[in-house]
Amino acid sequence: MDSQKRARILRTMLVEVPFALVFVGWFLYRALMQEMDVSEIFSFIVALGVLFVAESFIHESGHVICGLLYGVPPSRIQVGYGPSIHLWQDGHVPVSLGLLPCGGYVEFRYLPISRRQRIVMYAGGVAASSVAAIVAWNFIPHHLDLLRTETVMAFALFIATNLFGTAPKDKYSDGDAIRGLLAYR
Ligand SMILES: [Zn+2]
Repeated sequence: MDSQKRARILRTMLVEVPFALVFVGWFLYRALMQEMDVSEIFSFIVALGVLFVAESFIHESGHVICGLLYGVPPSRIQVGYGPSIHLWQDGHVPVSLGLLPCGGYVEFRYLPISRRQRIVMYAGGVAASSVAAIVAWNFIPHHLDLLRTETVMAFALFIATNLFGTAPKDKYSDGDAIRGLLAYR
């Protein structure tokens, strides 16, 4: 096994797995100790689906906004993976939604920009999700405590996966790209 693959597995074990376990553990604690009823469990699952789609949209928007700040327009926006439906065409930019609504990618027109700008564009997705998580924590009312914590945990899991996770085959995660860009001088 090459060292890169080993590093990825290590990152998954140290970051994504603990995050996911805390999330699942917290849910089980709430469900069992505080006796959630069936409708609450159902709403939790529905909310999770909505959160996955919302996170993916917010994340990809962060990349697009950072790109536009540097005058680099996107050439293709994909939210989610897997078999995709074409949502709309924004100017010359096709926007599509994959059936697996987690993650996605933005392709930009190739323009000569600095390495720092490229890093900011890759980091823009995670930055947008972090802002959204902070907003959610402050604006979702306290009596909706379950939804509030669920939202922040789901976003934290996505952020960790984006920074430290392993992208699907032939794709780079934001973290992979940022580490790659930081590696050369
Ligand atoms: Zn991204």
